[in-house]
Amino acid sequence: MTATADETKTKTTATMQLPAWLTTAGVNELLSLIHRPAQAGLMIEPIAPYTEQALPSIPTSTAEDVADAVATSRKAQKAWAMIPAAHKAKTMLRFHDLLVDRQNEVIDLIQLEMGKSRVNAWQEILQVGNIARHYARKGTSYLETNKVRGVMPGLTKVREVRVAKGVVGIISPWNYPLYLGVGDVIPALIAGNTVVSKADSATALTLLWTKKLFIEAGLPADAWIIVTGAGSVVGNALIDNVDFICFTGSTATGRKVAARAGERLIGASLELGGKNPLIVRADADIEAAAVGAVAGAYANTGQMCIHIERVLVNAAVYDEFKAAFVKAVEDLDVKQSFDYDCEVGTLASADQLATVVRHVDDAVAKGAKVLTGGKRLPEVGPYAYAPTVLEGVTPEMEVYLDETFGPVVSLYRVNSDQDALELANAGNYGLSASVWSKDHTMARVLARKLRSGSVNINDSAAAAAGSIEAGMGGMGDSGLGRRHGAEGIRKYTESQTIATQSLKMPLGVPEGMEIAKFVKVGNLQMKLLKRLGLR
Ligand code: NAD
Repeated sequence: MTATADETKTKTTATMQLPAWLTTAGVNELLSLIHRPAQAGLMIEPIAPYTEQALPSIPTSTAEDVADAVATSRKAQKAWAMIPAAHKAKTMLRFHDLLVDRQNEVIDLIQLEMGKSRVNAWQEILQVGNIARHYARKGTSYLETNKVRGVMPGLTKVREVRVAKGVVGIISPWNYPLYLGVGDVIPALIAGNTVVSKADSATALTLLWTKKLFIEAGLPADAWIIVTGAGSVVGNALIDNVDFICFTGSTATGRKVAARAGERLIGASLELGGKNPLIVRADADIEAAAVGAVAGAYANTGQMCIHIERVLVNAAVYDEFKAAFVKAVEDLDVKQSFDYDCEVGTLASADQLATVVRHVDDAVAKGAKVLTGGKRLPEVGPYAYAPTVLEGVTPEMEVYLDETFGPVVSLYRVNSDQDALELANAGNYGLSASVWSKDHTMARVLARKLRSGSVNINDSAAAAAGSIEAGMGGMGDSGLGRRHGAEGIRKYTESQTIATQSLKMPLGVPEGMEIAKFVKVGNLQMKLLKRLGLR
């Protein structure tokens, strides 16, 4: 039996060699962590992007297994919520240390399942480590009880408290299987929820390894449950049972997730796609901007939601920038390697490669010019594609405003900040943007006019995304809600207002007072408060 078409890869006869530390028993131990009591789900047959050879088959959960997972999680939540915050924080910090110490294992898995370069895989360790430390140390302060003024100051004591949602469902994609798989789990747990995650079918081993590490760090096994399977079955079943859904993936799927969550009136955070612009102002440091644009465009082989796909350069410096940028792109080393000896890895799947080829071919057929790249690299690997720069891209081309999610960048010449702004804000996405300028004040003015959840000045993407204390998310079609910082944990709670009225003065018309007089006193009180400058 095989899984449904949306997530199945064709199994090849050859089997990918696993790293020495991952024995057959080790694989079986990881697979045993999938919640599938019915043992009746289909099999997923993932393949390794470097070789197109088979990776271990992944058994999947059924819709009934998912309902059971959420029921089990609900029971576990009652106990987890009672555990003191300091103990939860210690568990996170133990996980942090284990992750740093054992990083090579999960980096191997990320590369095996997803094909990115080793340094890009290591960046996931860095990001998750920072998130774990951050919420372990600051999580409870974000959730502190807020004392506010009551309707009758002095007589009405009001506190806003934070209550865990209950069971949080998390659906994440394959492009950052560790960061996006566990980065949202951490604040959800710190806030007192338990979590049921649907692993992406291409990268399930990475998430299962992480769950094993969490158990070693002391997390109760049922506080974070993992289910596997097709989004259309297992993802839907998750939304149908949990109390909040955190989704990361494409805008098209995000709309379906939001609609389904809306039917149940549960909250949803949606981290979706982008078509992120980078603006080079006339006063920019051109060499730095070119190097920065390369880092932002080709990181994770372009399969990063916040990566740069459009570079808008002021005409005064266009030729200088173009020469420096194309040279820096041509200097990139594309390789398939389990060592730290290259910057750019391969694409993750035949589907990703097909989209990249289609976007570039369509652009070229309609008149775009390839400044560099524009071709597959079969001598490197089956899904390798050369870092590509296009010029002369026009609105009728797919690559103009559709997300490519690959190593393809379009270069545009603009005549002013206003032109840059209009082009940057074209389309419906609004995830991440970048402005390069020596004039930080002007750059910040421009930033405020960009429809974008994050804007990086003199950096292309990492400055905002790596600043874990600041929210990260999208405007427009790029999503709803934020991860990281205060919003990244408060979204997993309900705000509850507890108002205590002094017994001496219950609210309402005092006994013996005429209603008309009560209204008059109320009106006088309003005027007095205004005159005193009070609310
Ligand atoms: P996708 O939407 O196809 O899949 C994402 C996840 O949703 C997968 O686990 C999939 O199994 C599941 N899914 C599929 N159909 C579903 C359904 N009907 N109901 C519930 N779940 C379902 O996205 P993808 O191609 O795997 O990921 C790439 C996309 O994710 C890109 O658009 C990228 O920009 C976006 N992304 C966004 C962020 C962000 O933070 N904004 C981060 C990474 C990736």
